[in-house]
Amino acid sequence: MGHAVADDEGAGVASSDVDVVVVGAGFSGLYLLHRLRQLGFTTVVFDTASDVGGTWYWNRYPGARCDIPTTDYSYSFDPELERVWTWSEKYATQPEILSYLRFVADRYDLRRDIVFSTRVESAAWDESAARWRVRTDDGRELRCRFYVMASGCLSLPKAPEIVGHDRFRGATYYTSRWPHEGADFSGLRVAVVGTGSSGIQSIPLIAAQAAELTVFQRTANFSIPARNGQPAAERLTALESDRDAYREAARRSRGGVPGDVTEVAGAYASDEVRRARFESAWEAGELMEILGVFNDVMLSSTANDVIAEMIREKIRSVVVDPETAETLCPKDHPFGSKRPCLDTNYFQTYNLPHVRLVDLRRDPIVTITDSGIDTASETFDFDAIVYATGFDAMTGPIVAVDITGRDGLSLREKWTDGPSTYLGLTTVGFPNFFTITGPGSPSVLSNMAVSIEQHVDWVADCLEHLRARDLETIEPTPLAETGWNQHVDDGASITLYPTADSWYMGANVPGKPRAFLPYVAGVDTYRAACDEVVDRDYLGFRLSGPAGSECNDGVIRRLQVDVAKVLEFMAELELPPMELMSVGDARAFMAITESARPPGPTVGETVDGTLAGAAGDLPYRLYRPATQGPHPMVAYFHGGGWVLGGLDSDDPLCRDLCVRSDAVIVSVGYRHAPEARFPAAADDAFAAVQWIAAHAEELGGIPDELVVAGWSAGANVAAVACQLARDAGKTHIAGQVLLTPVVDAAMDRPSYVENAEGYVLSAALMRWFWDHYADPADRGHPEASPLLGNLSNLPPALVVTAEFDPLRDEGAAYADALATAGVRVHHLAARGHIHTSLTMVDVVLSGADIRAQMSDVMRSFFRTTVPA
Ligand SMILES: Cc1cc2nc3c(=O)[nH]c(=O)nc-3n(C[C@H](O)[C@H](O)[C@H](O)COP(=O)(O)OP(=O)(O)OC[C@H]3O[C@@H](n4cnc5c(N)ncnc54)[C@H](O)[C@@H]3O)c2cc1C
Repeated sequence: MGHAVADDEGAGVASSDVDVVVVGAGFSGLYLLHRLRQLGFTTVVFDTASDVGGTWYWNRYPGARCDIPTTDYSYSFDPELERVWTWSEKYATQPEILSYLRFVADRYDLRRDIVFSTRVESAAWDESAARWRVRTDDGRELRCRFYVMASGCLSLPKAPEIVGHDRFRGATYYTSRWPHEGADFSGLRVAVVGTGSSGIQSIPLIAAQAAELTVFQRTANFSIPARNGQPAAERLTALESDRDAYREAARRSRGGVPGDVTEVAGAYASDEVRRARFESAWEAGELMEILGVFNDVMLSSTANDVIAEMIREKIRSVVVDPETAETLCPKDHPFGSKRPCLDTNYFQTYNLPHVRLVDLRRDPIVTITDSGIDTASETFDFDAIVYATGFDAMTGPIVAVDITGRDGLSLREKWTDGPSTYLGLTTVGFPNFFTITGPGSPSVLSNMAVSIEQHVDWVADCLEHLRARDLETIEPTPLAETGWNQHVDDGASITLYPTADSWYMGANVPGKPRAFLPYVAGVDTYRAACDEVVDRDYLGFRLSGPAGSECNDGVIRRLQVDVAKVLEFMAELELPPMELMSVGDARAFMAITESARPPGPTVGETVDGTLAGAAGDLPYRLYRPATQGPHPMVAYFHGGGWVLGGLDSDDPLCRDLCVRSDAVIVSVGYRHAPEARFPAAADDAFAAVQWIAAHAEELGGIPDELVVAGWSAGANVAAVACQLARDAGKTHIAGQVLLTPVVDAAMDRPSYVENAEGYVLSAALMRWFWDHYADPADRGHPEASPLLGNLSNLPPALVVTAEFDPLRDEGAAYADALATAGVRVHHLAARGHIHTSLTMVDVVLSGADIRAQMSDVMRSFFRTTVPA
């Protein structure tokens, strides 16, 4: 053991009544203690370890290193500290990181407020005193105003779930509780169980000593060569030339490490581009590089498959025995969905004659015996067994303490079905309680040094704010917490993360609820949310004190994560508002944006043709499914405010609907304003519907199986066409599908006011569209405002509205009015979406689920059973 620490260290804490109790003296607890002390809060820190360091105190196995470059995996709060400490390697070893944390503890004289070798067992909120009562395993009880779990995400080892693991008479080691005196495997027969990060780091070094090494692998993991050595010259130069800018770039980055964010989508890049980008990331030997090799690595299975296969190729090229190579190739989870590893000669180790791999999927462990391991088909004798079996991550260390909040609420019980937090920092029912890098924050998906500093600063600033305002307690509101949980889930649900049985999902611990624990949208996005909460008077928190309580209740992030990213991207482009452009410029601009987007899915075939409109031929594009026809049909009308758009503008959406609904889609190029004003578009739509119905058979469709659909202004003319068809009584329409429709020229509903600006379709732009399309006197006509028409006996309808759309309330009003008129209506309210986002196929991934629901309803309109 290194630094000797007397048991009574921490005796600097004389009082049993302090401002703050902190659990954990790792990266988090040390910085928190330093900050709180600077602010004058009396603080005591407890740790079960006998010294500082947390992760780096416990994980002393051979080969233990960080896997974020140490230039970045360091504190940034004190430039002086950065100046006096120099890392010797690109990825420092555990002893070096531990020395660093001890150096920090000494430099800021932290040990006097830390009580080592002491476990916090319970913490209970005492409502009458507005204080926590904290108990430790040595019988101490402290009262404190604030209680902080800086207890680590990966600090509670997971017990090996293997029968008989306590029966073995040889030496047993756990990577996360490695003996301080080390272990010598020379001449021994050694087993390593587990091939996660710790297994992958330690196996080459154990193999170098052992007489025989047998590795028991349940899941093959992705690992890339660390290429350790001197700290990367580019990073050092950037850091040394402008430390502040470098650290700020880390804080504003996706993963907490400065680096360029690529715009290359792996799903669409050429093979050459994919290969070149992959090889360069492979050479860099950095996790964030390989995870960011394409912008859709964790979003698109096509992109992910590309990179996963390239890594498998690398494994096959290293491992000589083809069967061992295949067993080492990860195939049961997307790359990145389990934490990828960095290694030094891991795969090469399997070429050594005394190293053997046992695939537990084929030959599971039946029991540990007193002399070794019995698998289903073999008996192994060992002198030593090393368990590298991972952690009960993120929530484990928190609920291991018996934490009781307001009204006796147990945190363990509150989180039975998964954690529920506000910002990953706080939770309802537990006033003045904070978790550093808690579930629902970027934590383990980021460079944790950056995430830890951000959380510590947030908590310290919060305590200072309360003190300055003479407030005693802070607690999130149910509304804010529910909103945050939703946001965290929404973010995860569009990624590939939930598809893997990972510790990110709690899947490695039997009985643990499945929930995606970290926040995926990046440290930059996350920090912005935390800062905004503060700027908006602690939005979503109730702050109370002797003078009363204050609360600005609300939800901090209501837009879907990917919708917000699109809006941010557009804001950065600083485009002029479309309503200030000429019609020609606006159309030219649309054409440019169309050329830069993903093409949408492949359909059986597309056919361009012409059909008879109200005043002459109109172009159409037909999309035929790849399945055997004839198919039901959809007459589709594109969006664009009657002014813009065309067959190309909605092409990806039409492809998507074609594939999902297994129907022929006929997209109609109706006439546009201002060249052809009201009612030209509506008349064309009605004529086109009649023409398509009449030509169903020759188009490969099923007669009478026709749905009329459209988006925005296209949904306007679709709705009008349905009313005109009903009046004419000739054409049977099976259903109408109206995606964020314009149905009324009255632009004064609340959604127009709330969403007047900032969500692509602005109130001003909608006015511009109306002005081009119809004279004010005509706008009340049912062929312009179908909401004002006769709604009885119309075909069943699906109305989709988007939450952040000026048109939301008129769409909802149309759904209500149809229902009142006796029409069968489905109203799908797309939470967190804007007017355009549902049509952004393969860009706004959260729209896919809505389109899937749309297609399900559309199928239900057809009488013919369409195969799913
Ligand atoms: C092997 C390994 C390698 C890693 N490498 C990286 C990396 O390269 N980059 C990166 O960003 N992250 C890495 N991590 C994650 C790492 O945990 C964090 O970077 C960071 O060290 C966490 O610091 P912390 O202070 O929040 O928690 P920890 O370091 O885990 O410290 C928490 C402390 O709390 C104590 N504790 C917990 N419960 C109690 C209790 N009830 N009573 C008393 N004490 C308690 C524990 O004993 C522990 O010492 C790695 C993790 C592991 C396990």
